[in-house]
Amino acid sequence: MSINFSEGTDSEILTTAASLPEDSNEGSLRPRSITEYIGQEKAKGNLEIFINAAKMRGEALDHVLLHGPPGLGKTTLAAVIANEMGVNMRITSGPAIEKPGDLVAMLTNLNEGDILFVDEIHRLNRAYEEILYPAMEDYAIDIILGKGPSANSLHLDLPHFTLIGATTRSGQLTAPLRDRFGVSLRLELYTAEELKRIVERSANILNVKIDPQGAYEIASRSRGTPRIANRLLRRVRDFAQVKADGVITRAVADEALSRLEVDKLGLDALDRRMLRAIIELYNGGPVGLETLAATINEEAVTLEDMYEPYLLQMGFLTRTPRGRCVTHKAYDHLGIAYLGQQSMEL
Ligand code: ADP
Repeated sequence: MSINFSEGTDSEILTTAASLPEDSNEGSLRPRSITEYIGQEKAKGNLEIFINAAKMRGEALDHVLLHGPPGLGKTTLAAVIANEMGVNMRITSGPAIEKPGDLVAMLTNLNEGDILFVDEIHRLNRAYEEILYPAMEDYAIDIILGKGPSANSLHLDLPHFTLIGATTRSGQLTAPLRDRFGVSLRLELYTAEELKRIVERSANILNVKIDPQGAYEIASRSRGTPRIANRLLRRVRDFAQVKADGVITRAVADEALSRLEVDKLGLDALDRRMLRAIIELYNGGPVGLETLAATINEEAVTLEDMYEPYLLQMGFLTRTPRGRCVTHKAYDHLGIAYLGQQSMEL
């Protein structure tokens, strides 16, 4: 039997951590306060201290860098911070800032204490970063007007604001930018218990009937990611409405998710394709990320940002200096006999 490793299916879209059009109603599910924000106890604990201290001093919060895989709640947490601080938040993203004037306009429109949220900050044009340095450090910007000998420099004071940067790849931030964030918080994949609470909370908001086992079944198949948990909940709800009186039990969730090709551990078709390609074409690895991506016809960044974090956490994949390797556990999960990894360089 020959397997086409570059073929795609619908289920890989379903479990991508990237935001999809069907998530457009995410807003209604976003927690607003820090007590509603489930999980991420370490990041929340630190933040509460910084927020309270800033409030006691009557100052703006220090600049915050949030990093971690997509769909874990970086945008949500930034909005929660704004809410807790009682300030407004303006939202933009690295790629949306097309010219220096865009950034200057955003900065000069802020009010005292406001938050400027820059999503995907690693994609901000390096040349424009320099505007941010004095803005973050001294709350001021210098604008050059005109050209040549007649050029004038205009010094503008800015209100005391907080920059919250979000990134999936903190390693790509330049050191001068990274150093200007007083607070750097890493968001981790959620446990099944935490995701179960998120699913139950969302079901409540969406008016969906779900029992604890049903919620746990969805949670444990959501790759540690709230965005995916909410998406799977909506899909399972549709299934429950048509096939099972609208109530999501463990059996209903199991059947719906199996039909969607999301397996017991939350792996989808692309995860399996990636692991199988390493096993069948590269003898279990090591194989370089770029080579692997080309083999299965995916972007290397997609594999690295969306797929690897969960596979690494589950212990299905390891990263070595020579490339990615599949573990014994992955062979077991895929039902492939493990014959030991032999070197490809015979
Ligand atoms: P990111 O900015 O990291 O890509 P988002 O903040 O957009 O992720 O979160 C995606 C969705 O997941 C949100 O709409 C929200 O409903 C849900 N979510 C994220 N984190 C939490 C959390 N800690 N508790 C409850 N829901 C959450």
